[in-house]
Amino acid sequence: MTRYEAVIGLEIHVQIQTATKAFCRCEGDYNAPPNRNICPVCTGAPGALPVLSDEFVARAVRLCLALGARVNLLSTFDRKNYFYPDMPKNYQITQFFTPIGSEGRLLVTGADGVERAIGIERIHMEEDTARSAHLGERTLLNFNRAGLPLIEVVSHPDLKSGEEAAQYFKKIYDIAVKYLGICRGNMEEGNLRCDANISIRPAGSTALNTKTEVKNVNSFAFIAKAIDHEIERQIAIVEAGGEVESETRLWNPKLKRTETMRKKSGRNDYRYFNEPDLGPLRITAEFVEELRTTLPELPDDKRRRLREAYGINNEQLDLFIGYPAVCEYFERASSSATASFSTIAAWTSGELLRVEDKENFGAVQTPPEHIASLARLIDTKKVNGPQAKEIFAIMRETGSDPEEIVKNDPRFTAIGDDETAAIAAAVVADHPAETEKYLGGRENLLGFFVGQAMKRAKGKADPAKMSELVKKELTNRKK
Ligand SMILES: [Zn+2]
Repeated sequence: MTRYEAVIGLEIHVQIQTATKAFCRCEGDYNAPPNRNICPVCTGAPGALPVLSDEFVARAVRLCLALGARVNLLSTFDRKNYFYPDMPKNYQITQFFTPIGSEGRLLVTGADGVERAIGIERIHMEEDTARSAHLGERTLLNFNRAGLPLIEVVSHPDLKSGEEAAQYFKKIYDIAVKYLGICRGNMEEGNLRCDANISIRPAGSTALNTKTEVKNVNSFAFIAKAIDHEIERQIAIVEAGGEVESETRLWNPKLKRTETMRKKSGRNDYRYFNEPDLGPLRITAEFVEELRTTLPELPDDKRRRLREAYGINNEQLDLFIGYPAVCEYFERASSSATASFSTIAAWTSGELLRVEDKENFGAVQTPPEHIASLARLIDTKKVNGPQAKEIFAIMRETGSDPEEIVKNDPRFTAIGDDETAAIAAAVVADHPAETEKYLGGRENLLGFFVGQAMKRAKGKADPAKMSELVKKELTNRKK
């Protein structure tokens, strides 16, 4: 049986948040009442001339740098000619001949756990079209979206599975939305859109076979499923002796399958030519370097540093990379404490996020120093697990430092080894029948003894120590 591998490339459109549209001074907010933010330029009135937004250029350069791409100091704006009702000029201004960015890269972790670089072929600036809504027989057009700045990021076909594609898409989302803050990131409103080009070939081959395009998989939940389904569909066709047809397909989330949208016949000829009303875009190396200094630490670098500095697990790394505010909190707690990083990471990602919203983490009231202080109490075994949870609740309610809470509340004064041993002995002495059964081989009764002893210690003993001492006491009775 032939084994197959998938060849996947993604085209991701990122809508850039700017004060004005890309080529006119209309407000860049398309949630205004329909057709409020429009002018002769973005509605394609004859003779209206485009003027490029500086803010758009600066944000495009920052995105190129963040994706590890080369910034081209000279790039071109070009016309892509086609007819569609949402674009009355009958062309879209894009960058076809020379984009602003070339040859970037991002890392993904493959199924084998090994990190691999995914190449980014080009990053180009363009304008969005109007939004159309279909109402029965009629189509409504909202030109608030026409002319909004868009950046398209085109990957090389280096991705191998739906899971890898989802990781890559999520990383671009994180960089644009959370790290650079240049995109609103509302997927339902189409702030980020993803089209996937997919083909298959026998594993190890270098052939590039007919591909299909799955359009508008604008959800992290669906992208992996849509791509994996499409790979399976193509394999089934080839296995049955058929041929994959070049077509555009759509993901149907209800039926969990891709469906034909339109067949592709030949290549579209968009008659690209340089946009005569704009001319080439020239920027200076100084401008690029100045913008480079405004970049935050980016996900791939951050992951490497966190892994080396704190030795935390992959799940926690994913969380901290995806939520920079949670990460900052963890790092502040770690810098203030003599507690172990793993305890601090566990409590930040566990208990704290059970009660706090990671999407809105900036508003957390509990200072990181308090989580650190609680972690120190746990690490030094001054409190046990159930006590720590209780202290956590009090700490959040009162805003007090856990050290203070423990000092002022006799319930949290852990009992010493002598007292623990005395309780262990008393509990064993009080249950002769169970002791006999235990010594006769019913070793699972140990849990019963420890439970009784912890109850008697009012939870103030260390459960591991108690278990050890109860076992010792029972074994002593053997003689
Ligand atoms: Zn306008």
